[in-house]
Amino acid sequence: MMPLTRLLDAGYAITAWFMNPNIQPLAEYLRRREAAGICAYHFGIPIIYEDATWNITNWLRSVRDRDEAPKRCKYCCESRIEAAFAKASQLGFDCVSSSLLYSIYQPHEIIRACGERLAQTSSVEFVYQDFRQDWQAGIDAAVSLGLYRQPYCGCVYSESERYQKKLKRLIEKEALS
Ligand code: SF4
Repeated sequence: MMPLTRLLDAGYAITAWFMNPNIQPLAEYLRRREAAGICAYHFGIPIIYEDATWNITNWLRSVRDRDEAPKRCKYCCESRIEAAFAKASQLGFDCVSSSLLYSIYQPHEIIRACGERLAQTSSVEFVYQDFRQDWQAGIDAAVSLGLYRQPYCGCVYSESERYQKKLKRLIEKEALS
């Protein structure tokens, strides 16, 4: 929500691009896809869905030698920014930005550095803003729109980390009874 709000306020004509090759499970991908569509509709902007890139087998293979954070997350974020530049270039867009710059959990400086590095050798400009300043405003806006909010980052590792605490509590409870 907030990256779109800020960039529209700044006068950019935006096309949203939904590209998430590793969201697990697929039902979660579909929930986020739907939320992205509602968001685009809300702002009156077009959205492109890159559904053919969703491929959990390929993605897991691509991180097999770097499956621990932060290496995995660095690869994950950089590969998305690289893909965004390639897509923008292919479609003749002038600029690229990313909703990844909104997250307080993502490696912000890695995302920024990647965008700035790619812009140096591309005709596509990188539009950097620290959207994290709008973290709470983004939550409030999503709630007021009834928008689905993701409970974990996205990949199977983050889904596991999210629910491991619950499993740990159950194990401890069983051990006490
Ligand atoms: S935790 Fe998030 S940033 Fe890290 S690899 Fe998983 S989806 Fe990507």
